[in-house]
This record gives sequence, structure tokens and C-alpha cells, in this order.
Amino acid sequence: MQGVVYRGPQDLRLETLPVPQIQSGELLVKVAVCGVCPTDIKKIHYGTVPPPRVFGHETAGTVVKMGARARGFSVGDRVALHHHVPCLKCHFCHHRAFAQCAGYKRTGITAGFEPAGGGYAEYVRVMPFVLPGVVKIPARNTFAEGAMLEPVNTVLKAVKRLSLLRGDSVLVAGQGPIGLMFTKILSLRGIKVVATDLLESRLKLAVKWGARHAFNAAKASLAGDIRAAYPILDAAVIAVPSDAAVVQAMELVRGSAQVLLFAHTSPAKNHPAPQLALDFSRVCLEEKDLIGSYSADFTLQEETAGLVFSRRLDIRPLITHTFPLSQTAAAIVLASHPTPESFKILVAQ
Ligand SMILES: [Zn+2]
Ligand SMILES: [Zn+2]
Repeated sequence: MQGVVYRGPQDLRLETLPVPQIQSGELLVKVAVCGVCPTDIKKIHYGTVPPPRVFGHETAGTVVKMGARARGFSVGDRVALHHHVPCLKCHFCHHRAFAQCAGYKRTGITAGFEPAGGGYAEYVRVMPFVLPGVVKIPARNTFAEGAMLEPVNTVLKAVKRLSLLRGDSVLVAGQGPIGLMFTKILSLRGIKVVATDLLESRLKLAVKWGARHAFNAAKASLAGDIRAAYPILDAAVIAVPSDAAVVQAMELVRGSAQVLLFAHTSPAKNHPAPQLALDFSRVCLEEKDLIGSYSADFTLQEETAGLVFSRRLDIRPLITHTFPLSQTAAAIVLASHPTPESFKILVAQ
């Protein structure tokens, strides 16, 4: 089969690989679609993990082979994959800190080499411990909708970390595919969203997706504009890896509000130093919480599937570019340098 192998920083190669061998409790899935995700882009760009690997974890495809003891699926099922499932037994899991569980950190889907998702290959092997997160795609829905369950799940998990009441106001900084999902999911919950981004095309889409106001983050008047429209901000979601946006949000939100980091997924050495220092009295005296959310929660898969497959959250307009497997490297370049026209980018076979 063909697969796109990460051979080192910025080095992706289309190679011929053996079709993965499955064991008795496993599935072999023929990949139809894989979303290009910023966390993979960072690993490829900065070489934060050792090569070789086949990345791609927003994957949907068709079950083509089942191990003798694999249950719950049939050959021919169209499925959305899920690559991390926690053990539910360890200290971290008892605290629902699933993303910190050692079992969760194991990737259960591979196209060969050290498991890393494998979606940028023709076939993947799905291990038994991630099967509880695998969802069948209804006949009326597309593979692309299936592939979007993973990112939508990460957003839903983060939204549930916010203590919000209907009618509250939330700033969502960054209106890329993830920021737009926040805008939509918060709006569906009766939250007033104020959206910011540097690209006008993204601000327009944010309003279409439910934002009450959208402001260009490049404008010097940004803080004043937000304050005028929303004197009380109950939370902020920082869906862009900007330290300045975090510091500004900590100033803008009301006392006892939450500021949630969603895009600061690489160590500080890989992004610019803060332009401003954070005043810690905002945390102590003003009781503002600075929190983070990372990765998905498989216990939210059913709710996520309901949102996406019912099209209450219709992700189809987000998908602007689809590349063939042989052009995965170009797909990743476009995703890491978005244009006014580009939102979610897929690799499809
Ligand atoms: Zn992802
Ligand atoms: Zn655990």
C-alpha cells in the first residue's frame, strides 16, 4: 500500500509499505478520509517525536477485515476512528484527567512503525483498546463528517470545562476550523459569542456560525471594541497560539471567569516569548482561572456523533480543500499557512 512516512522534521515521503497485519481482536480499515490537524503539523514541523511514523488521526474509512475475536463491527461498516482511549482504572482516570493517563497516551491506530494515527496511508490497523471510541457512520453522512468527530470531540470536551450559564458571553479568539467549532457549539448552547481573528473571511464565517460580534484582532482598538460590546465577559477561549491573546483575555474577562487555552500545544521554545507578562493578581485577587484542555474524551463520542451526524453542527461548509494521498505534504503546507479561502483541509482517497 501507499503511505506518507514522516522521516524527520519537514520530511514527508510517499512510500510503499506493507498492509498492516491485524491480530485477533483488531480491525483493518481502508482509509477514505483523514483531516489535517495542527497538532500533527507541529510534530512534523518541529520534529518533536522520533521518526519514522505515519501521522493522521482524524480518520474515517471502511472495515475490510476483522480479527477472529473482534466484536461490534462487520466488514463493510463505514466507521469514524478514535485513536486514544483511557484505561478508566488509573489515578488520572479516577480524576477524569483522561489525557494524562498512560494508557490514553498510547495511540491505538497505526499504518506501521511507532503508532501515530496512520491516516495518511491506505490502510490502518485498529487495536482493541481504542474500539470503544469507534463510531459507525450513518448511511446519509459522509466520510468527511466521520473524520471530523475527533476535532469536534476535543472542542466539546473543552466547552464542558467552562462553567457557563445560558445567556453568558464568551470571547473566542481565533476563527480557524477549531475556533469556528467553538463559536457554533457555544452558540447552540445559548451563549453569546464574540469572535476575533486576523482574517476578514474568517470573521464573516464566524457571524454565519452564530457569533454576535466579530472583530479583527489586528485593530489597535480591539480591547475597547470588545469592552464596548461586552462589558461582562464570562469566559474566553484562546484557539490561536498567541501569548498576547492570553494576556489580553485575562484582562478582559470579568472577575472569577475562566480563560481556556486550546492552541498552546507546543513548548514555549517553539512559539514567540510573551509580549506582555501576566499579572498574577488577576488569578489571586480577581479569582480568574487560567485553564487548558487537550485532546478528546471518548465518553463524549456519542454526544459528538449526535451533533455532527444530525448536522446541528454541519461541518461540511468548513471543508475547503481535499488533497489526494500523494499530495499530503502540500495539504500540510496549506494547513500551516492558511489563506483567506482555506479552512479545514482533508486528505481523501
Ligand atoms: Zn486532531
Ligand atoms: Zn487511566
